[in-house]
Amino acid sequence: MPPNPLQRYHSILDGETEARFLQAKKIKVNVRLNRDIQTLWEEHKKALDAGYGTTSSVSLLDLKSELASRSLDDCALCERRCGTNRRGGVKGHCGVLEPRISSSFLHMGEEPELVPSYTIFFSGCTFNCVFCQNWDISTKPEAGATMEPETVARMIEAMLPGKSCATIMKSAKNVNWVGGDPTSNLPFILNVLKATDANLPQVWNSNMYLTEDSMSLLDGIIDVYLTDFKYGNDRCALRLSNAPEYMRIVTRNHRLARQNGEMIIRHLVLPGHLNCCTKPVLQWIAENLRDVKVNVMGQYRPAHRAKDYDEISRPLKLSEFKEALETAEDFDLDLTD
Ligand code: SF4
Repeated sequence: MPPNPLQRYHSILDGETEARFLQAKKIKVNVRLNRDIQTLWEEHKKALDAGYGTTSSVSLLDLKSELASRSLDDCALCERRCGTNRRGGVKGHCGVLEPRISSSFLHMGEEPELVPSYTIFFSGCTFNCVFCQNWDISTKPEAGATMEPETVARMIEAMLPGKSCATIMKSAKNVNWVGGDPTSNLPFILNVLKATDANLPQVWNSNMYLTEDSMSLLDGIIDVYLTDFKYGNDRCALRLSNAPEYMRIVTRNHRLARQNGEMIIRHLVLPGHLNCCTKPVLQWIAENLRDVKVNVMGQYRPAHRAKDYDEISRPLKLSEFKEALETAEDFDLDLTD
């Protein structure tokens, strides 16, 4: 039998392994957090490479949190690299200043391996997808509530087995960070994780348009990357999501994610995009990331501004979805149930 692509995730659920962020709290780094940023990055790399321990009181998670917070002064969390001072109140392309949570709940509609998934939706996004199925969240970065990291930490802990929410509903199998897109809120997420010891796998549910530095901050923190691989070429990505250099960035980050954790790759089949997007995406996965779970999704509905784009102004045909699934099967991909 082939190895389970989510083996480590399941061992966390079985209580045999710690979530990565808890391990990052135990790795100590030999640096003061008031040092210059280059020194902090050097120490971060050393700690990731060696996982060494010292008697310092500063953990790898503390260091990641400090680096992420400083990045807000000259924001390059995603590959838009706006360079704006978000701590100084200057918005970048995503429009996100302080993190705003539009909702959080036990999601029962994610992949079977993940549900119930405690899903935290941030307002705002680094993409501008004309067909966004969550446009009421992604296009309104000023919507939703601001919260202290400690408050969100307590909300997560309430989802553990035997805790208040979990006794009324079900307990969560994981914490699922999403939006919009979570990338703009990476410093906040790390601060939440500093404030909790809940042994729950962390799921990064994202368009994967992060910079390499942001990917390196996720390394050692995220257990499962739940990625959204939308396009098979740069032209469609630019036209429908306003995302330059999509293929270079997103394929790089998929490789990094696989190096650093386990993965489920989602691909939403778009009407009229079988040959330009679906087939190249599935082929790339087959050639580069064979040992991951893949979810070929057929639930596309024209939303937001999709009506202005001829080929995606209608629902997906059953015949298109079948062809997408057959292609995935031809490539012998490990599809989710
Ligand atoms: S996270 Fe927002 S402000 Fe920062 S680089 Fe990306 S789009 Fe620009």
